[in-house]
This record gives sequence, structure tokens and C-alpha cells, in this order.
Amino acid sequence: MNETKEKFKFKAEINQLLDILVNSLYTSREIFLRELISNASDALDKVRFEMTKNSEVADKDLPLEIHIDFDEKKNLLTVSDTGIGMSKKDLIKNIGTIAKSGTAEFLKKLSQNKEDATNIIGKFGVGFYSVFMVAKEVVIKTKSYKPGEQACLWRSDGGGSFEIETLDEPLKRGTSIEIHLKDDAKEFAEKYRLESIIKKHSNFISFPIYLGKKKINTISAIWREPKTSISKEKYVEFYKFLTYDTDEPMFIIHKSVDAPIQFNALMFIPKKADEFFWMDRENYGLDLYVKRVLIQHKNKDLLPEYLSFVKGVVDSEDLPLNISRETLQENTIFNKIASSITNHVLSFLKDKAENSPEEYAAFWKEHGKVFKLGYMDFVNMEKFMELLRFNSSANEDEKGLTSLSEYVGRLKENQKEIYYAVGSSRSAIEADPHLEIFKKKGVEVLYLFEPVDEIVVSSLRKYKDYEFKSVDTADLKKLEKLEDVKKSDEETEELSKDDKKHFSSLLQKMKKILGDRVVDVVESKRLSDSPACLVNSNDAISSSMKKLLKLANQNVEPDKRILEINPDSKLIRNLIEIFKKDSNDEYIKHATEQLYGASLLLDGSLEDPHKLVSEINKLLADSSGWYLKIKQ
Ligand code: ADP
Ligand code: MG
Repeated sequence: MNETKEKFKFKAEINQLLDILVNSLYTSREIFLRELISNASDALDKVRFEMTKNSEVADKDLPLEIHIDFDEKKNLLTVSDTGIGMSKKDLIKNIGTIAKSGTAEFLKKLSQNKEDATNIIGKFGVGFYSVFMVAKEVVIKTKSYKPGEQACLWRSDGGGSFEIETLDEPLKRGTSIEIHLKDDAKEFAEKYRLESIIKKHSNFISFPIYLGKKKINTISAIWREPKTSISKEKYVEFYKFLTYDTDEPMFIIHKSVDAPIQFNALMFIPKKADEFFWMDRENYGLDLYVKRVLIQHKNKDLLPEYLSFVKGVVDSEDLPLNISRETLQENTIFNKIASSITNHVLSFLKDKAENSPEEYAAFWKEHGKVFKLGYMDFVNMEKFMELLRFNSSANEDEKGLTSLSEYVGRLKENQKEIYYAVGSSRSAIEADPHLEIFKKKGVEVLYLFEPVDEIVVSSLRKYKDYEFKSVDTADLKKLEKLEDVKKSDEETEELSKDDKKHFSSLLQKMKKILGDRVVDVVESKRLSDSPACLVNSNDAISSSMKKLLKLANQNVEPDKRILEINPDSKLIRNLIEIFKKDSNDEYIKHATEQLYGASLLLDGSLEDPHKLVSEINKLLADSSGWYLKIKQ
């Protein structure tokens, strides 16, 4: 025998994973079989794909099958397939030495959440290693489909290292995995146990699975069956098989089209957003079949990324079987199928939004974050905009949702813009002085809680004829024209002519104090209660957008903000009196700095809190002195 044994160490993350699998997971261990069968099925799909492309394939006439054999006396279970197999290089690359990207995050999640571990394993796709939950030793024998490749053996006890040797035995194409079961895992060599596990987890595998001599699964492509013949249970069973979700799907979308292009699409929207989406961005897509042959797992061009929460399969008679994955995107038929599917999902959602708003709200809560990324889908822009939802001042609380068409339905007479405010919560936004005039005028404001929201509205620019406008860049002249609905709480007396003059000198004084930190200090028409706020000029980008751009290291032009002062507020009335007595009173300087600092703070752009706090402390020290004097 030509013995060329080589020893390898598992990659560090894989070692950590194995450690958790071997030492702390004792429930639902049966899913290891689902994982091995799914790998066998993938390997068979791959070799079938090579055959449709007319590649040279070893042992061409072998039937495409999965065999499960067991020996109760020896505690031995073997899972074998006639799939694509692995060369020595493939073995080293695929098993043990390279960790998937995101494995570190995955491990963190896994160690936090052991109950759900087995579902997490399936979703994340590190399935092979799960065999070590039940195995004390695993031996893989495999031979690649490429003619002339040597067969190889891989062996490990899951304890840090594995060895590989080339074999001289004349193996046939495919892979067999010998599992030497742990003493506490003998059940997995029992026929009835195995049969029930296969039926439970692997019933929809599209290759025959033999347990001993008996074929276990029923092979049917349910997406090709007429809708009326499929029970809800069957849909749910297929969904669970496809996604490893333990829950039922939120929505089932089954579409069969015959003309002009034939295809079947069976799609699902899960009840919960995929917790791995943001760390494993490649892990989405629909499975693409041509005449029942799997061409590509997780194809990413059938649906745009913002619909990546949709799971499912698409099968077409009208695509050529020998199509290559690389040229799919250039295929006209494929592109027509893709746009039809996208359209169909959007129409489905539109129907839900219109006819079952509660179900749509549940959808929005889970998947809205990803869905919003569709602001760049110019082809489907109109439909996309109708599906957007925001919280708004017209809603009762932060849970309420408003569509753009509802907003427009509530426009005030002469209102031509859609106003929005950005903040971390409803209460934070409602405390924003910029909103005072909107309250006074009864103009609805959309509340944007997530950073991406503002990117969305500023990229969209308009809904129908109405431009989106941030409350801090809103044009006051337009707002003033609208009728008041609310008088301010306390009617304040008008300033006398003389006081008006003093007020405008006070504004000049304040401008001098603040220097070029502000473009101007002016009388406010938008405030009714607060003494001051900072606004951006009409053409400027909003403060929150500026922050986003800074975060992204974009060059942002220096702030050009105007400090607005409300002459009707109590504080400013007092300042006018102080100013009249001594226009150089130190108190005016402190108060101005304080008003400016507090406005920056509300705006979220205060960079140096120390100065603000020391001013506050100084004012408190003074006022406590005065307070004591009054008390005595
Ligand atoms: P995944 O299936 O998500 O890629 P696994 O841990 O289950 O992750 O498998 C790792 C890799 O090992 C597979 O991607 C595949 O390349 C290879 N592999 C596993 N089982 C087989 C098999 N039966 N035949 C051929 N290759 C296999
Ligand atoms: Mg796998």
C-alpha cells in the first residue's frame, strides 16, 4: 500500500465549534443526519450539474443515490452518496482548515443560545461538524468526479487534528462517511430511529435515500404541483425542510406561470428576520432549478437584495439545462423570470398592505429594515414607495405606522412638502423645538428612528409631487402661510415698539458673542415655547444627514446654521430687560453661550460637553445665591 498519511490541525474556530458540539450539546443530536444527507444531496446536485454541462465525469452510469447503512453490533453508521466527491485538495479546503467567514460571531451566538443550537447550525452551514455530537471517530472515503483523481481517506476523532491519506483501493465516484458512534449514541444505528429521523428532516430531498434496501423518501417537486392539491401542512413541512426554521412561515407565495415564459415559484416569507443576515450577507437567494435539476443554490439574481428575506425555489422549463451560473445574468429568459418574480412579490405585499394591514404591520416590523434598502430599485420605485411605512405625528404612539399615501391624504391646504424629523425615539423627536411650529399649524411630521430612514427619504427626494423636507431645513415662509390650529399655551403680550428695538440689538449682541460659530442670530417664527433653536438654511442638508456623512468619512462642508431666538419666551423677555439696563452685562454672555450649547446638544452635534456643563454650573451657583437671598 502506498501510504502517504498526513496530519493536519483543525482551524482554531473549528476547534472551538467542535468543542461546543462534542461537550455541551446533548439535545436534538439527530440533526447530524439531516446535515450529512443535505451534504450528500448537494454533492449529487453538483455532479448532475456537471453532467448537464457535458463535463467529463467518472463512473457516469452510477445511479444518483444516497445510501444509509447501519450495523447495530458495531455501533457503526455509514452515509454514502454517488455525488461529486472530493480530491485531496478539496478535502483539505472543505473540511477542517478553512473556517467560513462569520464563524466567530456564529460561535458567540451558539454559546449564548444552546437550546436553539441545532437550528442555528443548519442555518449557518457548518453542518458537517455536527457529526461529532454522536461520533467518537469519523472516516470519510471519497473519490472526485474528475477522471484520474486518486481516492482519499480522511479520519478524525474531533479532537484537534485530522489525517488524510491517498488510497489505492479502486473506489467509485462519491463519498462515504463512516460514523463510529459514541457509547451514548447507539440509537443512531437502529433502523426505526433512523427511518423516523430521515422522514422528519429529509423527506423533500430530491434523490432517493435508501435505508438498507428500502427507499425512504417520496420524491416530488411540490412547487410544480397545482396549488389546490397542496395542503397547508405540506407547504409548512417543505418550508421547514428548506429553511431549517422551526416556526411556520409568515406568508406563502406560490406562483405558476405558463406564458410567455413557463416557470413555477414557491416562495416563503419567514415570521422572523434572519439573525445572521447582517453578518453573513451571502446567505440568501432562491434555489434555481431547470426542469427539476438544481442549477444553483441561493441564486442572488432572481430577487433584489432588499427582498432577501424571501426563501424558496424557482423552476423553469424554458431555460437551457446546460446553462452555466456565470452566464445566467446575461440570459434574457432568466432576466424576464427574475423581474416577473420581483414584481410578483411586491404585488403580493401590496395586496397584504391594502387588505390585511395588521399582517402587513407584522411583516414590516420584522423585515422592514431590509426592505427599506430597496430605495435604489428604480424600476419598481412606485410600488416600493407605496410599501414604505414610518411612524408619524398622526399616529398615537411609536408603534403606529403611516404610509406615504396616508400622509398625503392628510396634507393641509396649500401644503406641498412631506416633513420629517430624525431622532432616536418618539419622545426625543417630540421634545425637539423645531416641531413647535408644526404642532401649532397641525402639520403632520414623519418620525424617522433609524439612520437608514433618512438616507431613504433623501434618495427618493419626492413622493408623487411632494418633496421630502427635514423639519430643520423647512422653509418657514411656506409654513407660516398655513392656518394655525393651536394657540400657544399662554398668550404673551406683544413687545412694545421700544422693546422691539432692544430685542433686535440684543440679537446683534448675541451674534457678536457667538462669532462665526453661527451664520446669523434671528427672531424665530417657528418656536412657541422654547427660547432658542438652531436651524439649517433651506438648501443645506439636515443635521442628522451631516452626522451620517461624517460617520462615513465623507467631506462635509462646515456648518452654516442660524440661531433662532423666540422673543415671546420668558427667558428672552428677561434678557431684554437685563439688556436695557446694561447692554454689556456678563449675564447676557453666559445665557447666550448656554442657549447655543443647549441647541447644539438637542441637535446632536455638541462636540464639547465640558464647556456647556461648566456654564450650567456657573449659572446654578449664581442662581442658588439669589435663591438664598430671596428665601431669607
Ligand atoms: P456546507 O454544506 O454549508 O458547505 P458543511 O460543513 O456541511 O457546510 O460541509 C462543508 C463542505 O464539505 C461542503 O461545502 C462540501 O464542499 C464538502 N462536503 C461535505 N460533504 C460532502 C459530500 N458528501 N460530498 C462532497 N463534498 C462534501
Ligand atoms: Mg452542509
